[in-house]
Amino acid sequence: MADKITGGCLCGQVRYEIKAEPRLQLACHCADCRKESGSAFSMSALVPREDIIIVGETKTYLDTGDSGNQISRVFCPNCGSSLYSEVAARPDALALKAGSLDDPGWFKPRVNLWTDSALPWVPIDPACKNFPKNAG
Ligand SMILES: [Zn+2]
Ligand SMILES: [Zn+2]
Repeated sequence: MADKITGGCLCGQVRYEIKAEPRLQLACHCADCRKESGSAFSMSALVPREDIIIVGETKTYLDTGDSGNQISRVFCPNCGSSLYSEVAARPDALALKAGSLDDPGWFKPRVNLWTDSALPWVPIDPACKNFPKNAG
């Protein structure tokens, strides 16, 4: 992993810098993450709020997950790139969308959420911690 972890949206209006190694790396295969990411699943790195500096204007979409939890999905209002999401139950951390990293080479999911709704061709690594629905 690089000394300094940086990333941002596609147009560059929003930029961020992470000061410490993310605590958790996960993939979520729920239907909402699929819609939001426009891909088979979303990749998130769990980062303590105090460890990240975000610069630029963002917009938030309030989503209610299949589990009933409220999720704030934060994106760039200019280019629409997904940046991170916040769950009310974990106000101390945010789930950074790993596709927005400048160098995502080190990222590898250790946890899979909502494997019940994963697309049939997506390989689920049995060495990961896998949950059929939410981790709870
Ligand atoms: Zn942008
Ligand atoms: Zn999800």
